[in-house]
Amino acid sequence: MISLSKPPTTAAQREALELLQQGRRFLLTGHVRPDGDCIGAEAALASVLTALDKEVWILNPDPVEPQFDYLARDFVFGAYDGGEPPRHDVTVLLDCSELDRCGRLADVLAGGASRKLVIDHHLHHGPPWWDAAYVDHGASATGLLVHRIARQLGIELDRAGAQGVFTSIVTDTGWFKYSNTDAETLAVAADLVAHGVDPDALYRSIYQRKRRSHPLETGKVLATTEYYEDGRLAVVTMPREGDGGAPALDGDDVLDLLRAVESVEVVLSLRELAGGLVKLSARSKTDYDVNALARLFGGGGHRKASGATIEGELDEVKDRLVIAASRRFREARGS
Ligand code: 5GP
Ligand code: MN
Repeated sequence: MISLSKPPTTAAQREALELLQQGRRFLLTGHVRPDGDCIGAEAALASVLTALDKEVWILNPDPVEPQFDYLARDFVFGAYDGGEPPRHDVTVLLDCSELDRCGRLADVLAGGASRKLVIDHHLHHGPPWWDAAYVDHGASATGLLVHRIARQLGIELDRAGAQGVFTSIVTDTGWFKYSNTDAETLAVAADLVAHGVDPDALYRSIYQRKRRSHPLETGKVLATTEYYEDGRLAVVTMPREGDGGAPALDGDDVLDLLRAVESVEVVLSLRELAGGLVKLSARSKTDYDVNALARLFGGGGHRKASGATIEGELDEVKDRLVIAASRRFREARGS
């Protein structure tokens, strides 16, 4: 049985914990198009900091997706629309460690006099720019790190904070399916349920409130499936419609369905955005490192789940990606 008491701390983590204890006014922020892990971790940390009598604001580059509206009932998630952020002495960046992933907020955050803390589970490349960092690449979700922080600070999460951590964990593990689901993740999930989280209610909120057109839109995207490398690479494309980008198929539905094909090791989904950009989501179900692939295109993430926003026209970006992805398959085979 894994113990959920106080986990041991590294020297770097102690510095991060001290910054959380010393600061008075905190600005919590995350990456563009914040996902469940990002906003769940923000909610959980807001709850921890409030328990420590700190002032807390959450301000992201983009609004929260509607499927996470239950978190927005307990916490205010600001979406940056210019101007000065609230006065604060510590900025906490969650679920990413690169300021250029913060979109329009990047300059504001870089310029401010506040001390900077990063809480993240991604691989970071480049020199550290922060004052303190609480990072573990092995953690299944950033929200899990916030749960560790709560335990280390001796704070018991309230139900709202527990819902935040649960949201982080289930969205980043694909509801406990992916290889990042470990004993700590499951033990923390059990602890969160004991603290009032209702898994069925959250499942329905996150995954079962789709539009009536959702099955048809999913079908349309699946109909674009192309296989390469003897079926080991599957690619789907979502062309834009009208003036906006392609309609967002939230979550990993399509990626999961393609991964279900036995021969498939890597799935690439390409969504055309407005302004000549293409959003890549890449997933691997083997040792194939999609983080290395995404990095070739200016993105990043994890070995088994990564993404990038790439300049170019949809078909041309697809061709470049298929060539790069196929090359990595051949290199892995040593030919
Ligand atoms: P998704 O495909 O769900 O957007 O993202 C999968 C993973 O890749 C997440 O961990 C996310 O943070 C990372 N990721 C997605 N897009 C980008 C990007 O443009 N740059 C970087 N560095 N990471 C990304
Ligand atoms: Mn994450």
